[in-house]
Amino acid sequence: MLVETIKKKIRDIYDFPQKGIIFRDLTTAFKDKDCLHELSESLTDLYKNKGITKVVGIESRGFIMGPIMANNLGAGFVTMRKPGKLPAETWSESYEKEYGTDTIEIHKDALDENDIVVLHDDLLATGGTMIAAYNLVKRFNPQKIYVNFIVELEFLNGRNVFPADVEIDALIKY
Ligand code: 5GP
Repeated sequence: MLVETIKKKIRDIYDFPQKGIIFRDLTTAFKDKDCLHELSESLTDLYKNKGITKVVGIESRGFIMGPIMANNLGAGFVTMRKPGKLPAETWSESYEKEYGTDTIEIHKDALDENDIVVLHDDLLATGGTMIAAYNLVKRFNPQKIYVNFIVELEFLNGRNVFPADVEIDALIKY
């Protein structure tokens, strides 16, 4: 199954969560066993031989392929979560959404300076969520941070919010 075939499995939902938005629904891709397998292989291929030690998934859609990638790469999996969910001491970062502010958190002992990290979420839109996640991971001063998505909405130019030297990969583009 090719990446184009995965794209065909993604369902478009019009006017969700609000009028004028086309929501790319990946649940229809995840439920297809061949498509799930291809996602697992294709995402893993991007990072093999890069010495990845941790995959960091962003709540909640980054918790689907993130652990699969981590396991395939022989790396650990770290959760980046919404406020108040992580039980031990956390670092947090707030960012602007269309309506109001959102915050994400990570355990203070989740990473260290020896780690080579892949940050994973399902989809890049404006980049607001992932740049906050990137800044949070930066605090640990790891060896390297890669940024990964299944889908990139190119017309929103979300990758422009990252420093130019950050390696950003997405399997499927709209
Ligand atoms: P951003 O912060 O880049 O504007 O938005 C990306 C975040 O919103 C991601 O965490 C992603 O899960 C969610 N998101 C925004 N639009 C969509 C969409 O069309 N489909 C899916 N699956 N997630 C979306």
